Amino acid sequence: MARTVPPARYRAGRHFLQIPGPTNVPERVLRAMARPTIDHRGPEFGPMVLRILARLKQVCRTSNPVLFFPSSGTGAWEAALVNTLARGDRVLAVETGYFATLWRNVARKLGFDVHWIESDWRHAADPTAIQAALEADTAHAIKAVLVVHNETSTGITSRIDLVRDAMNAAGHPALLMVDTVSSLGSVPYEHDAWCVDVMVSGSQKGLMLPPGIGINAVSERALAASKTSTFRKAYWDWAPMLVSNETGYTPYTPPTNLLFGLDESLDMLLAEGLHAVFERHRRFGEATRRAVSAWGLELCPRDSGASSNTLTAVWLPDGHDADALRTVILDRFDMSLGAGLGRVKRRVVRIGHLGDLNDLTLVGAIAGFEMGLGLAGVPHTTGGVAAAMDWLAAR
Ligand code: PLP
Repeated sequence: MARTVPPARYRAGRHFLQIPGPTNVPERVLRAMARPTIDHRGPEFGPMVLRILARLKQVCRTSNPVLFFPSSGTGAWEAALVNTLARGDRVLAVETGYFATLWRNVARKLGFDVHWIESDWRHAADPTAIQAALEADTAHAIKAVLVVHNETSTGITSRIDLVRDAMNAAGHPALLMVDTVSSLGSVPYEHDAWCVDVMVSGSQKGLMLPPGIGINAVSERALAASKTSTFRKAYWDWAPMLVSNETGYTPYTPPTNLLFGLDESLDMLLAEGLHAVFERHRRFGEATRRAVSAWGLELCPRDSGASSNTLTAVWLPDGHDADALRTVILDRFDMSLGAGLGRVKRRVVRIGHLGDLNDLTLVGAIAGFEMGLGLAGVPHTTGGVAAAMDWLAAR
């Protein structure tokens, strides 16, 4: 007997993708990607990549090379390590949450000797602890310091300028490696001014693209280290990439259609202006925190100055399941919110407010959250939406 498949339920209106990445891909970027793939060795491709690399440098705030791989952010983590270090080298990694822990795990799997500065996932990277660990390393065995700029699991932004100051104060020559996967193109990041040696990023958040491009920005010291690095690598090797990139080409097949999208999204970011983009995200962060405070709920970050402007991690009261709240909101209001990860699984719900969104998108997201709190029976005071609206309207 023939089986009938029930038709998928049609949901009118646009799905609210308010996870902290992948973020909403703007129509302009979608259209730019919906073109026939071109010859990546042909005459149109090289000039496009040269255009992209020049503008990526502006976004990273560097005059040194920026490289990209057909990969997720995890690939760019690996590329940072294998290009600059030797097997078994010691690295200092700073725990800020789930993604810092994953980067540490990548380093361990590759055979690096990881010295781990622990934290409770509710505070930013502590420059004093970094300085102390480096001062104790009088033999300079530590070759790199790994810090996540914006910890996407906890909604905490760390002060990379202060990390650099701590390294300088310790007089330690380790390379500084910084993950900007959920901060690049959304909050200020100064690759050259903060003397970061390797930046790790990805396409799917502030750059408003689907996942699939991993990015490294480098310093002169990192380039020098890559010339003497003895770690074996093939796919991730910067050397052939840098040579090919000089003329706008790549040593292996690039993600051509994602690059069409990146060409477009960089135009959009620079036309809005980086300062305006940062200011927009600052407003979204503040408006969302005002809503959470009006609800009487707690934020994951305990240190108010460390709250991220790209996402807000809301800490649910004891006895309330963050995943149950997310499920109600998805079913009733067609909005996806970020799950709690690792140690904060079911404790936090993450509201993503980065990438392509405006005041009304944010107010809609906050309204969905507030209605969900009521439906899921999470104790709160109403008025979060009003608090966010008042604040946004006044600015
Ligand atoms: N670093 C941060 C801060 C992230 O948020 C993520 C992913 O969300 C990653 C690294 C890992 O990137 P990917 O999942 O693209 O490999």
